[in-house]
Amino acid sequence: MATSQDRAQTWSAPGRVNLVGDHTDYNAGFALPFALPQRTTVVARPRTDGRITARSGDLPEVGFATSTTPGEVTGWGAYVAGVAWVLGEHLGHPLDGADLEISSTVPRGGGLSSSHSLECAVALALLGLAGEEVPVEELALLVQRAENTYVGAPTGLLDQTAILRSRAGHLSFFDARDLTVEPVPCDLEAVGLTLLVIDPHAPHTLVDGAYASRREACERAARELGVDSLREVDDVGAALAALADDETRRRARHVLTENQRVLDCVDLARRGDLAAMGPLMTASHASMRDDFENSVPDVDRVVEAATRAGALGARMTGGGFGGAVVALVPRAAVEPVREAVAAAATAAGSPAPDVLEVTPSRGAGRD
Ligand code: ADP
Ligand code: MG
Repeated sequence: MATSQDRAQTWSAPGRVNLVGDHTDYNAGFALPFALPQRTTVVARPRTDGRITARSGDLPEVGFATSTTPGEVTGWGAYVAGVAWVLGEHLGHPLDGADLEISSTVPRGGGLSSSHSLECAVALALLGLAGEEVPVEELALLVQRAENTYVGAPTGLLDQTAILRSRAGHLSFFDARDLTVEPVPCDLEAVGLTLLVIDPHAPHTLVDGAYASRREACERAARELGVDSLREVDDVGAALAALADDETRRRARHVLTENQRVLDCVDLARRGDLAAMGPLMTASHASMRDDFENSVPDVDRVVEAATRAGALGARMTGGGFGGAVVALVPRAAVEPVREAVAAAATAAGSPAPDVLEVTPSRGAGRD
């Protein structure tokens, strides 16, 4: 006789880093993320009583009815309940129920999208138990709705897309207008390079209001230019000259130049010239710091120290107002970069940053 142990399914989903292309997704633009080796794993066992329970490390266990609606479950359980809610809406009936055991190696709250990693792994596990499949493009939109509507965090589509659709050894060239992903080979080892993710533990400040105000500025710019989104702008120079308000112009300039940097990085990666992406990454950081004004001093300090110590390029990743830095580094410069970012933090009286060496890894799937 089959036991519930036999019917257990294990699914996992990675965290993600965006190499270049931030604040472009909600402007129907381009991004170039990849999946991290760090993952969230969900062991799911079926229940038939319309309840879901979830456990994750030391966090308090959560339990709720699969007919849950937004607002009912708060705290970390909201990420799980949000997914159950949105899948029930999508399928047209609540799920049967499940017991979920969650473990994760994705650092939390550091801008590596532990929340979407959790949601994507839970979504796949719940669909797996239900014997249902949803195309990845659609699943990314459902997970976005769970986080926006149930958790109450405004996010674009970049994270879920990177997590669900990335391939090992590749960057994911994402077009947020057409919802297409093109895998672009990225064999760093072959050219003596590596990627570091450096988390300075910079507190996220004013996130909700600042994110909303940036989105509004982008929408205002598009409206003034008479286009549906900044993606539709062909002549960047003319568009910027036509925007009278300095702040609106700078916000738009970030998005417009960032789209071009993504396209340029994709061209370089296709040609195998990965080192040449470095200066574009650093230019992207300057654009966020000066034009989009979504960086913070702890993050700027890491970018400066890393590039001075030999990184070919470094930038804040994942939307900003704090969070992690991604740096493209020659193997020989890994230790100097580690030391430089630690020394810079000490000199500023800040805690030492965490440094992870990462490689583009596989997207979400069944283990
Ligand atoms: P991040 O940039 O890591 O996505 P968020 O603030 O968006 O940061 O999400 C972090 C939150 O997601 C945590 O505070 C927690 O509520 C939830 N979360 C992420 N991973 C897990 C996990 N493995 N188990 C339980 N909750 C998690
Ligand atoms: Mg998140």
